[in-house]
Amino acid sequence: MRASQGDRHISGAEGLYNEEDIEKIVKSYLSRALNHDRGKPSQITITIEELNEAPLLIESLPVYTIDLKSNEEAWNFIKIFLKRLNISEKAIKTATELIHDSEAMRGASILTQHSSRRLEHDLRRGVRATRLGITNDARSALTGVLEEHGLNRTVVLEAIVLASKVAHAPEVVAELCVSDDPNYTTGYVASHSMGYLRIPEIKIPGSLSGGRVFFVKEDTDVESLTRYLETTPVLVHRINSFHGIISPDEALGSINN
Ligand code: AMP
Repeated sequence: MRASQGDRHISGAEGLYNEEDIEKIVKSYLSRALNHDRGKPSQITITIEELNEAPLLIESLPVYTIDLKSNEEAWNFIKIFLKRLNISEKAIKTATELIHDSEAMRGASILTQHSSRRLEHDLRRGVRATRLGITNDARSALTGVLEEHGLNRTVVLEAIVLASKVAHAPEVVAELCVSDDPNYTTGYVASHSMGYLRIPEIKIPGSLSGGRVFFVKEDTDVESLTRYLETTPVLVHRINSFHGIISPDEALGSINN
């Protein structure tokens, strides 16, 4: 689903579903498009495609929430975390600017980890990870855990599925995400090695900016990565560990182990 107001991105969503669930899902996507905090769309597009290949089955990333109390603390943590993953200061600066300084894009930027080159073909749109989903059993399991932790089931579940598909690509070193929803202030950093780290206070409430950056290895073949992100169907079929709140030092300490 894609909703926009002229050139402005309002809302987007995607998933892999069984045929019998299509009507229900279309209704829920439509209601999401019509009731988004970014505003009323002037155009909504819903595309439904039959899948002709078996999806790749993956495990979700382990989830942690970092104990961060302010926007400054959140961004200090992100910078140290990304540096420890061998992402250059230049790339971190570019990513921070992309997320803060412009209108939200529909998709993500692909940024090389050292030289900070943007690889996506369409710099205004970015690349959109699609054809991703979660099996019914894994969904019930994850929904149960999210409920136990008092978290928003739809938003967090969809983000964990997306981050798990993205981190599964061997070219991707890390992902940084700030919601474009003006009222959703928790973002995340994720990587295959470290998992999915929820970052409270990543965003000042009320801001319409937001975005995603996929940091990738220098020698990344962007055609093959884009093909994987946009067209390879990937289903989360197993749920990894779900942790509570940990301190920034605990999170950073485990990178060196
Ligand atoms: P959201 O988490 O839906 O608030 O999205 C935050 C930002 O992430 C959006 O403004 C887009 O730039 C980007 N984004 C959202 N969905 C995707 C996706 N499926 N693939 C790549 N980037 C996305």
